[in-house]
Amino acid sequence: MRCPFCDKIDCRVVDSRVSEDGLLVRRRRECSMCGKRYTTHERIEVIPTMVTKTDGTIEQFDPAKVRNGILRSCEKRPVTTAQIDKIVQNIEKKLTIGVIRDIDSKKIGEMVMNELKETDEVAYVRFASVHLQYADLNTLRNEIDIFLEASRAKKIEPKND
Ligand SMILES: [Zn+2]
Repeated sequence: MRCPFCDKIDCRVVDSRVSEDGLLVRRRRECSMCGKRYTTHERIEVIPTMVTKTDGTIEQFDPAKVRNGILRSCEKRPVTTAQIDKIVQNIEKKLTIGVIRDIDSKKIGEMVMNELKETDEVAYVRFASVHLQYADLNTLRNEIDIFLEASRAKKIEPKND
């Protein structure tokens, strides 16, 4: 860093603090030449993820769209807004932290399906039937069968508590 007071490039970090959400670091620096202190902020660079849709068009990833799709599947289901927000956040995190720049809309659909599987069975099946609309009915049936099989297996598992 170039000191804003004496213009020399020689400083040391005297204090470093991470913001509550963990996305910003604030550093107090001290110039080794003139001894004056100044502050710098460091944040994660967010690169927009581009989504390729089923019709081949490309658009910037929009968390609001993902949220709307989930909302529709969760209609009249005991899923809270907080749970839906969490799902959207998880997907956003996967895309930004994994620095995924290009992704198929199908892949995002799969991510949502995986999250909904853990949240609400009906919402999951609803979302899957919309998301898999371009695939054939057998694919949807298989997907639901595998899911029901797994959830049945989960239910009969003996509890060790
Ligand atoms: Zn200085």
